[in-house]
Amino acid sequence: MDADTIPAPKPTLLALSASELQARVVEFGGRAFHAKIVRENVLAKGLVDYERMTSLPASLRAALARELPVFSSRELTRSTAADGTTKLLLEFPREPSSNGKRADATVETVHMPSLYTGDDGEVTGGATLCVSTQVGCPVGCPFCASGQLGLLRNLRAHEILEQYVRGAQLGPLARSVVMGMGEPLLNYENLSAALDVVHDEMGLGSRKITVSTVGFPERLNKLAPKKPRFQLAISLHTPFQEQRDVLVPAMKGVPIDDVLAAGDDWFEKTGREVTYEYVVLAGDNDSFGHAERLAQRLAGRRCTVNLIPFNPVDDSGFGRPTEPSVARFHQTLVERGLVATVRWSRGVENDAACGQLRIRRQEPAQ
Ligand code: SAH
Ligand code: SF4
Repeated sequence: MDADTIPAPKPTLLALSASELQARVVEFGGRAFHAKIVRENVLAKGLVDYERMTSLPASLRAALARELPVFSSRELTRSTAADGTTKLLLEFPREPSSNGKRADATVETVHMPSLYTGDDGEVTGGATLCVSTQVGCPVGCPFCASGQLGLLRNLRAHEILEQYVRGAQLGPLARSVVMGMGEPLLNYENLSAALDVVHDEMGLGSRKITVSTVGFPERLNKLAPKKPRFQLAISLHTPFQEQRDVLVPAMKGVPIDDVLAAGDDWFEKTGREVTYEYVVLAGDNDSFGHAERLAQRLAGRRCTVNLIPFNPVDDSGFGRPTEPSVARFHQTLVERGLVATVRWSRGVENDAACGQLRIRRQEPAQ
């Protein structure tokens, strides 16, 4: 089938704005305020079964159930690891992709339940949801499964939102990280529209949402003055320019100093500290010299370094670091005055490493 003969997908609830939904509800014989009830049920209460929205007239419930599916995606697989991490593989409708062919649009969304200690010391439960913004990724980092795919297509705003609504079905969300497939700043309009709804109607505060990016300086500079609806994390991975050019190919030639300056500018304008992410690749960027140079580069900045031990990706040629080597690297940073954390990934036994579930599924059976 040619890209231009792909039938338009059936409209879904989450793809409609509040006013578009209102028009549909009225068309189905309902009243304008019923549309508000529907949105509240789905977004704020996580109730996605129209039949259970008992404050709506039965005829409207039936029309909605018949005509307006909530989700556009199909859940292909759901797997839960021993630590409670659940990974969803979602398939969105096919659409023409950036290369003119129709793109298979499967992405991953990961739900990680945790306990959180609030500012008042109270411990509450809730999950962190990791969402995707693109199908594949054009940045091409050689250690990342999404990078190996290249970009198939951008997700639409409602497809990003849909991951949140599906995630909330698995248990209440306390936080979210935009760290799944894709580079958020290369699909920013859609991400931003989705985050507006997540913030305003699902009730996730802007300090509870972290967007991770490789840090295109001119894009960050443009965003920073606006009130951000998220915390910023910049994937740095190495203090050495030559190595960054290899580890983050789409940033080749963009000086690390410019990336750090964009982070400084963000902090100045928003008052929010930046987190620098550092995937620890055994034998590649975990030497004492790397830690020392990283500490030098970040000296005097109010920021946090988040060390992410590499999750093995098939055929990537990179290795998972040992716990003692990550601990040593961490200690070197701390001794030099940096704030640093280590994030061992969750649910690894369940293919929770970024982008892997999707890739495994596509491999032909042996
Ligand atoms: N494109 C954005 C966000 C998605 S990736 C970015 O790169 O920041 C989110 C984080 O996961 C990034 O810091 C990325 O470097 C890291 N990551 C990618 N593949 C990984 C792997 N195999 N093991 C550990 N971390 C990985
Ligand atoms: Fe894209 Fe991030 Fe993966 Fe790099 S690490 S290829 S930017 S998703």
